Amino acid sequence: MADRVGKPVIFRQGVKRSAAALYRRLGAARKPGELVILNYHSIQPEEAFSTSPEMFARQLEYLIERFDLPSLDGWFERHELGPPAARPAALVSFDDGFENFFEFAFPILQRLKVPAVLFVTTGFVIGGCGVEARLGMYRDLPPLSWAQLKEVRAGGIAIGSHTHWHRHLGQSTPAQVAEELRCSKMILEDQLGASINYFAYPWGQRQHIGRETAALLQANGYWAACSALWGKNTASTNRYLLRRVRIDAWDTLEDFQAKVEGGWDYLWYYQMLR
Ligand SMILES: [Zn+2]
Repeated sequence: MADRVGKPVIFRQGVKRSAAALYRRLGAARKPGELVILNYHSIQPEEAFSTSPEMFARQLEYLIERFDLPSLDGWFERHELGPPAARPAALVSFDDGFENFFEFAFPILQRLKVPAVLFVTTGFVIGGCGVEARLGMYRDLPPLSWAQLKEVRAGGIAIGSHTHWHRHLGQSTPAQVAEELRCSKMILEDQLGASINYFAYPWGQRQHIGRETAALLQANGYWAACSALWGKNTASTNRYLLRRVRIDAWDTLEDFQAKVEGGWDYLWYYQMLR
């Protein structure tokens, strides 16, 4: 693995893993009613930056054993109307909209009956918008087609917006942010014939969000938005700043378990300092 993804990545993983072990010893754990949203990008065999389908299936099996697995709609509804939950909840989310979602992740999600939300960058699907250059380590992976997106939606996967151009919203004007939110929502609703209510910020760190984005999301009819800020969500979490836990290709099953159970939540403090 070190040969494929680079020694610095593996070194950093080791440091974070040790800190997580310490943090868990301090009592970090998920509680009933809390929601952890997992942030995936790519599921594909033998691709350096993608989680393998076998590992993805093992990760979902762990979730099934330990967590309630509601949709985002379901989690919000339960908080407002339902009885108290007996277990913590987990939700699988994917960013960008890579074709390998259709080929590898979707069949496993269906087989194991695990809900998921897929945040799609509409300009990436359409092509010719220069989005690829902003996808970092995933820039060579092809996008889903509209036919595939229709099929996964029909198969129960929730679709959200991940902008049209994958812009850095923290460095965009309010007019550009509004354009990203409006344009991607309109295209998705037009293509899929469904209301698009959820959003994920490109990159999703604090500096990528933009001061006026939450108000613009609300004004454009979005109900909630996911960041990449680390941690769990509770009934009192800001709906336009939902936290997530990033799952990487180089995570072992133990890393995955530690991440979903709260061990890596200390990274939030690090994110706030940057
Ligand atoms: Zn993205």
